[in-house]
Amino acid sequence: MRPRTISQRPAALEKDIKNYINGALIPAASGEYLDNVNPATGQVYSQLPDSGPEDVDRAVEAAAKAFPAWSMLDVQKRYRILSRLADVIEQNLEAFARAETTDNGKVLSLSSSVDIPRAQANFRFFATAILHFASEAHPMPSQAVNYTLRQPLGVVGCISPWNLPLYLFTWKIAPALAAGNTVVAKPSELTPMTAFLLSKAAMEAGLPPGVLNIVHGLGGKAGQAIVEHEQVKAISFTGGTRTGEQIARLAAPKFKKLSLELGGKNPNLIFADCDFDQMLFDTLRSSFSNNGQICLCGSRIYVQRPIYERFTEEFVKRTEFLRVGDPLASTTDMGALVSAQHLEKVESYLALAEVEGGHRLTGGQRVELKGEHAGGFFIRPAVIEGLPIQCRTNQEEIFGPVVTIAPFDTEEEGLALANGTGYGLSATVWTQDLSRATRVAEQLQAGIVWINCWMVRDLRTPFGGVKNSGVGREGGFEALRFFTEAKNVCVKY
Ligand code: NDP
Repeated sequence: MRPRTISQRPAALEKDIKNYINGALIPAASGEYLDNVNPATGQVYSQLPDSGPEDVDRAVEAAAKAFPAWSMLDVQKRYRILSRLADVIEQNLEAFARAETTDNGKVLSLSSSVDIPRAQANFRFFATAILHFASEAHPMPSQAVNYTLRQPLGVVGCISPWNLPLYLFTWKIAPALAAGNTVVAKPSELTPMTAFLLSKAAMEAGLPPGVLNIVHGLGGKAGQAIVEHEQVKAISFTGGTRTGEQIARLAAPKFKKLSLELGGKNPNLIFADCDFDQMLFDTLRSSFSNNGQICLCGSRIYVQRPIYERFTEEFVKRTEFLRVGDPLASTTDMGALVSAQHLEKVESYLALAEVEGGHRLTGGQRVELKGEHAGGFFIRPAVIEGLPIQCRTNQEEIFGPVVTIAPFDTEEEGLALANGTGYGLSATVWTQDLSRATRVAEQLQAGIVWINCWMVRDLRTPFGGVKNSGVGREGGFEALRFFTEAKNVCVKY
């Protein structure tokens, strides 16, 4: 076990996180724990079970036992239970939001206006979606009729990252459960607290034992045990591209269904005819919201030459106004990065950018706070220019408050820059020219394109990436299709 030093501040939080298996909150079979650090203080403030294959076996066994009843439950009843779960999250929004901020370092305003409302909405959305999920029939006149059954898969695994902890965890769990599967899920070891609170909410909402099981611990141990388990029929994973590759290697020979939502290096393509003020406002958000730790953040900004200088000047000025500090304070714009290790990774890319010839226009310095935040993982948002598209800083995902900017002249050149990495998650285009917007959207290599906006989300739309950003789609009926198997039944008459 790692050393334990409990900080004083988050006294209201439950300190010892437990696994949620077969409807009960229990420790890991080994009795071992991992430390959970508050990124804004750098102090350990709770512990989580260091689970392994034995815990995953128990969770899968419970899920398999719960599957027949849950999958055959009338959809109206499934709807009611999942919607009650949404109610419980909504009623406890403040506690969830504070827990998310304490665990992740993101500002409270974001946890309480985005993360937790969205987690609630995920359950509400899929609870109702299942009521409208119909299958097809294919008649063969005077001969036969085919109809398609969309049946749940059985026990499925859901593995999510630390950047939007409860938001992404529930984005997987809600459709899996709504479709009639039972779930073994693992949140990131760095941000387990709201998943633990979800266990309690599930108990309060009356979710039958074994339908949802939450196993905490390390990715390479607990996560891998879920991926490798023979009885787990599908894996829905969100995380880094390298981890996705490892998971695909393990799951493919076992013919498991896989949904992989992976990394990104998203471009913002800004044309000279855009609505400048709106573009500036949204580009600042898309660069530094959640400290740049959103897979959909734009980290490469391409600006058409006539407005390049004006943009650079204004953007740097606004970046310098952003206040970095205590994530619980209402005056803070940017909180702490999620971990010391992640802070070091971001700093290593800032150093690399210099070696590669980049010119840092602002930011990149550690922010040293006083008092209880003295050990927190704070850094000023950074803007870099002068880097070619081929360099590592522009090719690799930094996943922090660091953006690069560069000018372009023609639409063709802008598109080549935007499409010039191995990733293809999302892209943002700014122009008032409708024809150009439509043409460019068609040619961008990305699963999601925003025109004159960013992060406007409708949960019914398909969500996912191309190239190294992933395989498969989440969202709306796409998610329900992933979590079901289509079976054709042919009736001759
Ligand atoms: P990781 O890939 O490191 O981890 C994601 C999850 O997988 C964690 O729960 C982790 O556990 C677990 N895990 C790690 N190794 C294994 C393994 N061998 N088998 C099974 N599970 C494993 O990603 P991060 O948590 O660092 O998240 C950041 C990444 O997520 C970024 O690349 C970002 O772009 C991507 N992301 C993609 C999104 C999308 O929709 N495309 C959305 C949000 C983020 P543990 O934490 O314990 O290591």
